[in-house]
Amino acid sequence: MMGNPNQPIFILKEGTERVKGRPAMSANINAAKATAEAVRTTLGPLGMDKMLVQGNTGETTITNDGATILREIDIEHPAARLIIEVSKNQEESCFDGTTSAVVLTGALLEKSEDLLAQQIHPTVICRGFRKAEKLAQEELDKIGWDCSLEDLRRVAGTALTGKSAESASDTLSSICVDAISAVKDKDGTINTDNIKVLNFEGGTSLESSLELGVLIEKEKLHSEMPPSVNDASILLMNKALEIKDTKFDAQLSITDPSQINDFLAQEEAALKDMAASIGLHGVNVVFCQKEIDDLCIHYLAKLGITAYKRIKQSDMDALARLTGAKFVSKVDEITDEELGLGHVSAVEFGEHHCTLVRSDSATSVTVCLRGATSHSSMEVERAFDDALGVTSIAFSNKVIAGGGAVHSHLARHLRKESIKDGSRVGMAIEAFASALESIPRTLAENAGLDPVDTLIALRKAEGTTHGVGVDGEIIDMVEEGVIEPRKVVSNAIGCATESAIMILRIDDVISMKGAKGAGMPDMSGMMG
Ligand code: ADP
Ligand code: MG
Repeated sequence: MMGNPNQPIFILKEGTERVKGRPAMSANINAAKATAEAVRTTLGPLGMDKMLVQGNTGETTITNDGATILREIDIEHPAARLIIEVSKNQEESCFDGTTSAVVLTGALLEKSEDLLAQQIHPTVICRGFRKAEKLAQEELDKIGWDCSLEDLRRVAGTALTGKSAESASDTLSSICVDAISAVKDKDGTINTDNIKVLNFEGGTSLESSLELGVLIEKEKLHSEMPPSVNDASILLMNKALEIKDTKFDAQLSITDPSQINDFLAQEEAALKDMAASIGLHGVNVVFCQKEIDDLCIHYLAKLGITAYKRIKQSDMDALARLTGAKFVSKVDEITDEELGLGHVSAVEFGEHHCTLVRSDSATSVTVCLRGATSHSSMEVERAFDDALGVTSIAFSNKVIAGGGAVHSHLARHLRKESIKDGSRVGMAIEAFASALESIPRTLAENAGLDPVDTLIALRKAEGTTHGVGVDGEIIDMVEEGVIEPRKVVSNAIGCATESAIMILRIDDVISMKGAKGAGMPDMSGMMG
């Protein structure tokens, strides 16, 4: 029997929502654009900060960092979440340029709306975008230069502008370059694990400093322990120095007071032995990841051994790398091979008592950032992390002009190519060029200028170094010292194109029952 051809066939479970075609695409594009809009005003040297307040705790974060903003705010729309992926990708591979990457993605989608309105098929737009990206990357490969030490400082400075850390930009960029130079291998590889960044509340960021060695935010455990030891034999304990089993539990029945005394005497003897076994190997300094019993501390002090307890895992790892010591879990397993060598000294930062460990054979450095309040010191740390990351990239990558200079150059280049193409794909290339101009355009807008004037002036400019200066005028960014690693721009263009295309290819959004937002599958049932 034949079914009724007009009868609708339901293949989806009841309660499933489905949006198809242009409405689906528009909804996705709008959500993505709105996300980009959320961070636009933070871009560049005159970008503003955002204050993010946690709904449940009221905890606030003040930041200018695109990736931080998008990570902290609750975004539900699935297309908007794709944009957050862009900022994550950019942060993970380049540390900086997260806002630019998101602004660029938003601009690509905005420009494609115009093309869609002219009935250009999304697939054609995607093809054009792919071609434009390839052309842009090829052109980008041709520009840039290897950077000098002075250039590196400028790269760090560029990453710091517009952040609250900017006032101490000179100090911080020097610290950044010195830190990286210190941990650079002979073959030029930079192990950023050997750079520890600490931030201390109190003081101003101008008082930030670089310490050679691993700085630990702990002080010695006993007043009679030597505060500084040169050429110390160092033991790293990753288990507690205490006797667990003798904690009295309720079952212990005591018939005679002397039993308690026996017990205590036994325990004391055991702890004394523990300290003695450590002393036996000529250990001068013990860093213990866990607790150390007070009595053991007392005996260690008597033996002239300096001890520290509750050291963080990351610090233990850093100490192992620096001093060559290996982790020991039982005192009777100590051998000479496990011990490391280094110089230990007590240092103070304002009210913070710390310990610095240095070594002659390996290099680690600690950056001590200062900020007046915990909010400002945390934002300084975020900015510094970006600067440190980009600067280490610049070491092994070419650098180019910032301030939207390269984006405008690429836009001019793509316009020429789009004319050559002369097809619908060419229109998409032209749209891509306009999207690239969103960077200088936003910089101008955030500087309070008329973006159209800026774009007109930039379209007339020549070369690859003219961009939007702090006051919004068109200047040579290299002369201005605004430079950044080429990878920051190429990665942003790459992942912005990728996500824009991904969003443009969706024409059917099927939201399962109970989905969050407009179609994210609910994953909570899969947990636990
Ligand atoms: P992002 O998260 O993308 O790094 P930023 O707020 O750090 O966002 O802004 C980066 C943009 O600001 C880059 O295009 C960079 O070249 C530009 N920029 C940085 N410093 C200056 C400056 N002094 N003058 C003009 N542009 C600058
Ligand atoms: Mg930046």
